[in-house]
Amino acid sequence: MKKVLKTMLMGILVLSLSVSAFAKKKIYVGTNAEFPPFEYLENGKPAGFDIDLVEEMGKIMDCDIKVVDMAFDGLLPALQMKKVDVVIAGMTETPERLKTVSFTSPYYKASQVIVVREGENNIKSFDDLKGKKIGVMLGFTGDIVVSKIDNVKIERYNAAYAGIMALKANKIDAIVLDSEPAKNFVAQNGGLEIADVEGAQEEYAIAVRKNDQKLMEELNKALEEVKSNGKYDELIDKYFK
Ligand code: GLN
Repeated sequence: MKKVLKTMLMGILVLSLSVSAFAKKKIYVGTNAEFPPFEYLENGKPAGFDIDLVEEMGKIMDCDIKVVDMAFDGLLPALQMKKVDVVIAGMTETPERLKTVSFTSPYYKASQVIVVREGENNIKSFDDLKGKKIGVMLGFTGDIVVSKIDNVKIERYNAAYAGIMALKANKIDAIVLDSEPAKNFVAQNGGLEIADVEGAQEEYAIAVRKNDQKLMEELNKALEEVKSNGKYDELIDKYFK
């Protein structure tokens, strides 16, 4: 009996050792699932282009990806406080953000666009927003762009959807938002359109803590591979066509 017990214990020990040796490294990924098609909730879980992209990168890096959904303005603080290891959230690399975190190579080119009510389109440039009441999302790059325009009244919302609702309810004249989510919201909400104005280009990248050099290199390598093995193009087709 003793021998059986001993063998069993040994077995358990060997098994747990090998499990821990083979347990994959986990990467905690912060996102804000309110930015379709990059991230949104599907059956209560974050889904979208960014989520699929980081999952593909995780496969290459042989890591388990654990996505954590939180408010957009909480993402970089969570990264710095080590609650997450990286942030992927359609996040634009900006000089301001670069002061506190690093960014991988860019993975998507975007721009800011102006969404207006259909048929009320007298906006031909960003300067035409002067004197108008414009909705932006708090802390988004659209906030920075609109804040530079003189004499504009800014209404700040916590989520893009709230801004879209305010526009539909005539509470604001226009809303400035990233191009792809704007197209998405316009397609899903009747009565809105995107003004034909050339917006400033920006680039989305994955944020990493400044001292996490090794992870940064691994992510950049994985990103390159995803781009060269066809997966990136598959995701572009899936989400943007
Ligand atoms: N690209 C914008 C930014 O970085 C918006 C990102 C987002 O809402 N997820 O501020």
